[in-house]
Amino acid sequence: MGNLHLEVVTPEKVMVSQEVEIVVAPGSLGEFGVLEGHVPFLTGIMPGEVRYTSGGQTEHLAVTSGFTEVSDNKVSVLVDAAEKAQDIDTERARRAMERAQERLAKDRGTEDIDFARAETALKRAIMRIKVAEKTI
Ligand code: ATP
Repeated sequence: MGNLHLEVVTPEKVMVSQEVEIVVAPGSLGEFGVLEGHVPFLTGIMPGEVRYTSGGQTEHLAVTSGFTEVSDNKVSVLVDAAEKAQDIDTERARRAMERAQERLAKDRGTEDIDFARAETALKRAIMRIKVAEKTI
């Protein structure tokens, strides 16, 4: 077991708090991996997959936006939302994807439609569907 502690925290709960051997996460400048002894750093997190390995078992999490701090062999991932791959409701994500696609298909001048919001909702939905597929 590595001497690296991972915490994944959302406004609702502490999703993960355990020792891991490696963490791979979707940083705003690209995917990054952290092993024991990593230099301290801070980065934004984009909607995507966080995966971590502990005792030879790899877990996949879908995360939305936030940031990560790496310091003293501790990786803190603070995000708006996170779900373990096996807990993702793929039907819900499909519905969210379709809703966003319908909004984005409207004329750009359409009032009452926040296109930027629809785009980020679409990214979250597609990312959840992709991460959920890892459990199949
Ligand atoms: P929806 O439109 O379906 O609510 P959303 O992208 O707007 O999707 P979020 O605001 O990112 O949802 O998340 C709200 C809460 O619902 C969070 O706790 C998140 O973990 C949970 N959640 C969202 N979508 C799913 C899903 N497909 N499966 C499981 N939990 C989900």
